[in-house]
Amino acid sequence: MSFINLIAIDGPAASGKSTLAELIANKLNYFFFDTGVMYRAVTLAALEQVKNLDDEAKVTDVANRIRIDVQPASVQDGRVMDILVDGRDVTWQIRTPEVDRKVSKVSAYAGVRKAMTEQQRRIGERGNMVMVGRDIGTVVFPDAKYKIYLEASPEERARRRFVEVQKRGEPTSYEDILASIRKRDEVDSSRAVAPLKPADDAHVIDSDGKNIDIVLEEALQILGNPVS
Ligand code: C5P
Repeated sequence: MSFINLIAIDGPAASGKSTLAELIANKLNYFFFDTGVMYRAVTLAALEQVKNLDDEAKVTDVANRIRIDVQPASVQDGRVMDILVDGRDVTWQIRTPEVDRKVSKVSAYAGVRKAMTEQQRRIGERGNMVMVGRDIGTVVFPDAKYKIYLEASPEERARRRFVEVQKRGEPTSYEDILASIRKRDEVDSSRAVAPLKPADDAHVIDSDGKNIDIVLEEALQILGNPVS
């Protein structure tokens, strides 16, 4: 089996994948790429351009048509990167509760996944990359050299997300976030194409009750042990 020099980090919503991936990327001087922003960008564009998100053909057409760019942060407002759709900065618009509610529906469409997976493979082929998502170790890069699956209970994830959203000054409640996380878990795990699940050869880290330093330490130990 040929291994791609890529670290795949998968796991459910708000499990801390991006935080962990960024720390690993900084430590190893690797690129960091969060594939969730692509599905979020398609969802935002579909909400703007298609009346009914049940219309799979139209939503898939949006996914094939829009140009998604990810580039270094141009504004110091807490963002890690700029996310552009057809040249427009949508970095924060893709994080709204409305996108949170709809993104799993859009991500379940086979044509949407095909379009995103192709782009992700092109991006990842350059290697030296930490790629984050739901299906990186199972579908996008099954030959990744390292695979980590990061999980935590829905309650712990909702608590973390609640603190984040409050810091941004957005109105929300812990209960709404918990409900949204549970719903996304359910849809992401039960879809027919590329469902959320650990790859057979992934190292699973449960981050419940652990701070990020401990999780990073566990991950770095794993990185001494590629998948076999
Ligand atoms: O990681 P994040 O929460 O930003 O992902 C948003 C949504 O995008 C997920 O709930 C999931 O439906 C979808 N997604 C996916 N496959 C990926 C990354 C994200 O289906 N590789």
